[in-house]
Formats: sequence, C-alpha cells, structure tokens
Amino acid sequence: MNPKLTDLEAPAKNVGKARAHVSQNEGLIFEQSAPGKRGMELPPLDVPAVDPAKALGSEFTRDAIEGFPEVSEIEVIRHFTRLSTWNYAIDLGMYPLGSCTMKYNPRVNEFVARLDGLASEHPEQPAEVSQGCLRILHDLQKCLLSITGMDAATLQPAAGAQGELTGLLMIRAYLESQGNPRHKVLIPDSAHGTNPASVVIAGYEVQNIKSNSRGQIDTDHLREFVTGDVAALMLTNPSTLGVFEERIAEIAAILHERGALLYMDGANMNALAGVTRPGDFGVDVMHLNLHKTFSTPHGGGGPGAGPVLAKKILEPFLPIPVVVQKPDGTYTLDHNRPKSVGRVRAFAGNFGVLLRALAYTLAYGPGIRQATEDAVLNANYIRKNLEPYFDLPYNLPSMHEVVFSDARQKVRGVNTMDIAKRLIDYGFHPYTTAFPLIVPGAMMIEPTESESKQECDLFIDAMRSIAAEADATPDLVKTAPHATRVGRLDEVAAARKPILRWKSA
Ligand SMILES: *Cc1c(COP(=O)(O)O)cnc(C)c1O
Repeated sequence: MNPKLTDLEAPAKNVGKARAHVSQNEGLIFEQSAPGKRGMELPPLDVPAVDPAKALGSEFTRDAIEGFPEVSEIEVIRHFTRLSTWNYAIDLGMYPLGSCTMKYNPRVNEFVARLDGLASEHPEQPAEVSQGCLRILHDLQKCLLSITGMDAATLQPAAGAQGELTGLLMIRAYLESQGNPRHKVLIPDSAHGTNPASVVIAGYEVQNIKSNSRGQIDTDHLREFVTGDVAALMLTNPSTLGVFEERIAEIAAILHERGALLYMDGANMNALAGVTRPGDFGVDVMHLNLHKTFSTPHGGGGPGAGPVLAKKILEPFLPIPVVVQKPDGTYTLDHNRPKSVGRVRAFAGNFGVLLRALAYTLAYGPGIRQATEDAVLNANYIRKNLEPYFDLPYNLPSMHEVVFSDARQKVRGVNTMDIAKRLIDYGFHPYTTAFPLIVPGAMMIEPTESESKQECDLFIDAMRSIAAEADATPDLVKTAPHATRVGRLDEVAAARKPILRWKSA
C-alpha cells in the first residue's frame, strides 16, 4: 500500500513482467494444470457402484470436461487469493469515491446476517412463524423514522433509484387523489443523475432549475417556477457539491403554498444523520441508501436497499404489503391498502441488507451523530489541506464530501481522469471523476468517517505529490497507472465486448 514516489518511477513497459508484486502477474489456472494433480481424494466406495448415466440420464452426465485444469488444493487457494488482490476494496485502504459513501462495514453486521434462523428464513413462511423477521423490519422502520423525523416507511425498494421512483409514484397517487396529478417535477442542476430518470419513468416532465454561484437554489427564481402544474421539487441535500441547502425550510414553504411537495434524495444522509432531520425542515418524502449511510457492502451491482420515508399525508399510498404491529404486540403484513401504489419489490426487499442496517444502527444508537460529525470533519480536513493545490469551484464549508476541479492542472494537459488513475499507483481507489456535471473536470472526494487522520494524511500526501508531478512531469500522470498489472484500459470496449470465456490456443 501507498508506495513511495521512487517506487513508481519504473517505466510502464515492465507492466505484466515479473515485478515485486507476484500477485499482479497471476496466470490462468489452466497454465498450472498437469495430468494427475488433484485437489482432494475420496475414500474408496463403500456402497455398490451405480452407472451415473443410468441413474441421472445421459443428458446430465459426461465422462470428462475438455481442458479442465488439474491442480492441487494449494494451487487453487493461491490462485484465487492472488486474483482477489487485483480488486481494490474498502478492506485494503481508503476508497474516496465521492457520492458513493464507501465506508467500512463492521464485521458484526456480517455475523448477524449469517445467524441461523435469520439467514435460513423463507419469505413465504406465514406471519405466525416469521415474527422475529417481521420485528426486525418493524424495528428498522422505527429507527429510520426517528433518524429522519418522518411518519411512515417502506423498506421494499432495492436501491436509491428505485426509492426515488416509489416516492414519486406516491406523490403522483396523492395528487391524483386530490384531483390533479400535475405535470412537472423541478430538479436543480446539482442533483444526482438518477433523479431526472426517475421523474421521467414516473410519467412527469423534468424542469431544470439552475443553482446560483454558491451552489444553492435561488428562492426568488424558484418562486417563478412553482406554478399550479408543478407536482414536486426533487432535491438532493446535501447536494452533489457536498454543500447543505441553507434555505431548505423556505424552499419547502414555497412549494407547500402552491400545493406541491418536496422530495428529498437522502442518499447523502451520511452528512445529516443524528444532526438534523428532513422531517423537521419540511420534506414530505425521501429515500435513504442503506448501502451507503447504513453500512452494507456495495458496488458491482450487488444488493442494496432504498427505503422510502414519508409524511402522514402520503402514508395511504405506501407500497403493499406494509409491515405493521397489531394492538396485541405481534407483527403482520398488511395487504389491505386500497390506495397503495402496489408492490415495488418481491417480498420485503433485500432482507440481508436491511438486517445489516439494523445491526449497524442499533450498535451506534445516538452515537450516529458522532459518525456524521467525523465524516464531515474528514471531508473538511481534506478540503483545507488540498485547497492550495487544486481549484475549488464552490467555496463553502463541506458536508460529507468535497468537490475540486482539475482547472489548475488542465493548463499542463492533465485532467481529472489522469489524476484519478495516478492515485491508483499510490495505493488508493480513485475519487469520482466528471461528476457533478455542473463542475467541469470534477474531482469528487468522500473520505467517510471510517478513515483515521493517518489515512487521510496519506491521501493528502498522495494528492499533493500528484499535483507536483502534474507540474514537473505531466506525462507521468497522463499515462498512469504504472504500478498495476495493466495500464489504461479502454473501459468502453471492456464493458461492451467482454471476453468471458477462455479458449485454448
Ligand atoms: C447513489 C445515489 C443515488 C442512487 O442510488 P442507487 O442505490 O445507486 O440507485 C441517488 N442519489 C444520490 C445523491 C446518490 O448518491
């Protein structure tokens, strides 16, 4: 991890040849194959032999697998262990991927999610024998409602984006029940890209509103836009610039005066949890990303959870079934909700993710405020230490993340992508590049509360070194990474034409 600069100056040509990191040069497992090598041995048969083709049918059996590698147990273990080191992970070092909140996921969450009787429960079991699981869901709802200051919840949506859609469908159903669903949803230009997509899928038209030079919504400007045809404003708070929307309560009042609702994209709740509650500053409906703020491993399209929290007026429209506690204290799933927008996800959502989130939330309790404060402190610490080296287009106190731009390095032909790639050589995962869209050449850095001052300092040192390199040896940065198995990839071709099958020469 975090190699010194001198280790990195070897020319890029050596990549793929024998280097210090054996793991960077792992061949195919087929190359280690030799006839007769075995990973295990079975004892002699102590029952009568059967002909598999007879027992299973010949279409399900075969004598041999062509080209199947023959390797020993330790070769298999080493091969896959080495391969695993090609992936960067939060367990290896800081993962400052802005907007994604790649915090550390405490192991106790994993322990809880694997407990017998939880991992093996079946969602089709009747409520009488699922009381424990239903209580877990109900308890998580209570925790999230108290953290957000909202009134009603659904845990079904499988991701933030699906939460957005669910919340918008609830807004639509509510306005329809008032006689007019309206046509437009307002979205500031500092919003996350999923917001306009969700609006369109929910059958609304997007009306973009510009933020001012401080990255804030101009409330006078907003007043002009909120006509009788506006269903809602969809606001990411803190915004993708990592700044808090200071006039949020006034914004809510402007909308409510004209019968429109306020949707808050709460994926950035890592900057607010335990400090302030959206329900208290006028938000009508919001989603959370449990796989960000509430610590669940994420990335690579794995399971997530995007619960939706709403005010009382929207409660009748929640997706079915709703987890409820009966007067006798037991729990059940309520399907009898005539105004519901319907089901949005099979069963109760991604139960394992919900379970991890509850374990995490209960472990912190009110201490969640400390986690938030540490996340904000880390982002501001990095901001202050990097301000002299990188352009900061919106100079406001940071919340959980800080957005620089590559404007200063651009003069020497070095852009945000080059700097991000060079970070890999220093042992860090890159930050988020080219987002948010209102910052050209954006460098979006989110350390999260998981990182110590020491790790933040290593990151700051790496970024300062790269800034110096961009001045002195811009080509070194423009051709990074150099310390990896392969250099710059054609990421588009890799995604569009993946090679998924090994063929012998
Ligand atoms: C991550 C994120 C989303 C989307 O969440 P998914 O779970 O990836 O669908 C939406 N809004 C913001 C602000 C985000 O950071």
